[in-house]
Amino acid sequence: MLTSNSAWSARLSVQNTARRTAALINALSAPEAQAGARTAEAPAATEATEAAEATSSPYATSTTAGATADALAVADVLPAYGEPDPLAISAEDIAEMREAADALREVFAAGSAGAAAAVLNALLQRTTGTLRLTSHSDGSPWHPHLDSHDDAPWGEWLLASSCLALTVLVWDRQCPPGGVCASPSCRAVFVTLNSGPARRYCSRRCATRERVAAHRRARG
Ligand SMILES: [Zn+2]
Repeated sequence: MLTSNSAWSARLSVQNTARRTAALINALSAPEAQAGARTAEAPAATEATEAAEATSSPYATSTTAGATADALAVADVLPAYGEPDPLAISAEDIAEMREAADALREVFAAGSAGAAAAVLNALLQRTTGTLRLTSHSDGSPWHPHLDSHDDAPWGEWLLASSCLALTVLVWDRQCPPGGVCASPSCRAVFVTLNSGPARRYCSRRCATRERVAAHRRARG
């Protein structure tokens, strides 16, 4: 399917890629690390797990319910960012994507441009290929990639595309590309939209909940 160049450039924009990275990190957050957040904030994750166990999902190739829930979450995120439905995603892919997500989370946790650059430099040196241009065999406008080839495994693709976008954001804005929600029950990562005052929470919902909780604590 051919789409207009402007639709393609929106899909491939640095900002959109960085937001896709944040969404995938949040979808892939390890259940053990995020257990509190999932029970407190996202009962949907439990429902997704139960649904996955009850139905024979095409993604249910894993032996653990956590991996299946992550596969379902990833399958939700990718089409929302213009990627095709990942029908061919395996439990091994999910495990590699989760590893990539854990490494990328450190970029969001970095408190300064210098700290984010140090994490990115280590990832670029250790995990990505050299910069190349691809048009996916004339399927898209030319754009840069850091993975080894167009059919690289999902984990490699996530690391490479994320490192590229986050590197450009640090270059462009001279500040960390995002942050981690300050709510202890959330810890979702988010992309900073501009170089205004530092954001503490991923969403208005988290900010309001924490403000109400602080108010209750203050009143005893
Ligand atoms: Zn939050």
